[in-house]
Amino acid sequence: MSDCIFCKIANKDINSEIIYENEKVIAFKDINPKAKLHFLIIPKKHYNTILDIDDNETINELLSAIKEIAKKYEIEESGFRIINNCKEDGGQEVMHVHLHMLGGEKLKTSII
Ligand code: 5GP
Ligand code: ZN
Repeated sequence: MSDCIFCKIANKDINSEIIYENEKVIAFKDINPKAKLHFLIIPKKHYNTILDIDDNETINELLSAIKEIAKKYEIEESGFRIINNCKEDGGQEVMHVHLHMLGGEKLKTSII
């Protein structure tokens, strides 16, 4: 997707603070952090939403990325929060599926 900002980040056409990368997945710091640690984890391949992911390897790699990042930032014990905003009602603004990973401090209560 040539006009997708997260595809551009995955292709390194746009700068971002990359914190994790493998063949399928890349993670980088959110430009507008909502917690001490706020990362976005995305498949390199463009899927609009979480509903469009049709590849088990990508799902596995997203989970592996969460584990690796938790280890790297030493938040395995303290914990963290994973959020996916999906489409209009979920508040998804960037239409390239991404997982928010928030932590590094006690997070405010969420609606669930
Ligand atoms: P959404 O509302 O779609 O779930 O979240 C999109 C997230 O992407 C927001 O938290 C926003 O701060 C982040 N974001 C948008 N544009 C950029 C960008 O160019 N670089 C980075 N690093 N984050 C971005
Ligand atoms: Zn994209």
